Amino acid sequence: MPYEACGLLSGINHNVQSIWQLENEWKSDRRFFVRKKIVEETVQKIKQLNEQVLAVYHSHPTTAPVPSNYDITNHPDDHVFMVIISYKTRPPITKWYHIQESVYESCSFFVEQPAEPGPF
Ligand SMILES: [Zn+2]
Repeated sequence: MPYEACGLLSGINHNVQSIWQLENEWKSDRRFFVRKKIVEETVQKIKQLNEQVLAVYHSHPTTAPVPSNYDITNHPDDHVFMVIISYKTRPPITKWYHIQESVYESCSFFVEQPAEPGPF
């Protein structure tokens, strides 16, 4: 905040295991941009962990969690999900999208609660 945040989520079999925060080089609250070199280096690190890129995430600091035309046009790969976290509302809303041929479709996802800590 106040700019859009962005990064990659990686893991195995649709289970997110790692979050890769990237810097929004445009420092904009409406768009994000990361140099190709940085993205490629991050993808290499993900491969070294034997994980796959599952999603590209970014935040919408002030607008609804709906992909903009810019988001859809610049989405790199139909096999990678788009995750948008909107801070328009409190608490923030997170949405997962599948993008195919410039059409977006909302997907369900769930967050596993960590196991309750045992008595000490
Ligand atoms: Zn966006």
